[in-house]
Amino acid sequence: MTFSSSYVCVTCGTNTPADASGAPLATCIICDEPRQYVRSSGQEWTTLDSLKSAGKHTNTFTPTEADPENLISISTSPSFAIGQRGILVRTPKGNILWDCITYIDEETVARIKELGGLKAIVISHPHYYSCLKEWSDAFGGIPVYTHTNDKKWVQRPADNHIFWEGTSIDLLDGEIKVLCPGGHFDGSSLLLWNKNLLVADTMMVAASRRSVSFMYSFPNYWPLPPQDVKTVWKTVRPYEFDNILGAWVGKDIVGNGRNIVHESAKLYTQYCGHDTAKYYGSDAEELSFD
Ligand SMILES: [Zn+2]
Ligand SMILES: [Zn+2]
Repeated sequence: MTFSSSYVCVTCGTNTPADASGAPLATCIICDEPRQYVRSSGQEWTTLDSLKSAGKHTNTFTPTEADPENLISISTSPSFAIGQRGILVRTPKGNILWDCITYIDEETVARIKELGGLKAIVISHPHYYSCLKEWSDAFGGIPVYTHTNDKKWVQRPADNHIFWEGTSIDLLDGEIKVLCPGGHFDGSSLLLWNKNLLVADTMMVAASRRSVSFMYSFPNYWPLPPQDVKTVWKTVRPYEFDNILGAWVGKDIVGNGRNIVHESAKLYTQYCGHDTAKYYGSDAEELSFD
């Protein structure tokens, strides 16, 4: 396996092409905007090759509480950059990787192949674009799906990169549904499979694992407007789901997930100082509100 010599941002983990001279860019476009941050020490870059040759990192496969057989977290140890997980979704119609991580090595590829391989990669939003092209290439150029609303943030598209459009898309003959309520990013997406809702940063599973929250920026503490939170609820409202799987290993809510999103959206709106009844009255009122 060969990797490119593009540069990986050590803060967000995004692989970014070098400039015309082969040097890294002055800033990372993912970090140098209000939802992320540049470290006080300034912009730092590494490469995937140097991460591999340093030998400090490995990827860990962790069965989830929601479905230990078929939903498996893949995360890097010790943690790198944002530290998110990818989730291997194993379905009767093939496997999908939900979200992506920077680090990939031969052991990771071999382990995923033992677990049934990969048919596609679906990424929720730009913070997790990471090394999407390297992951796609490692599995024979499988398609990578990201929402077209976030196209400008894709630094290194996969050879088979699909910018999907609209509010939902069905994959694997309808086995998997991906929804786009936006909010955190214009193309922020969710994955729905077998009564599990995989939420990435579209909503954040709280430390209590009894509620979720919503933010435009998590590290910079910018809240999401209540009408955007309402759009997230309206997007998931038609679907039955029990479990909510967040962006990090262990950030899972097992059971009662749909009700928890509804109640959390109402509490969020109240705590932001808005009239909750205006946004969340009767079911009829909820659907008519824009
Ligand atoms: Zn960055
Ligand atoms: Zn994010």
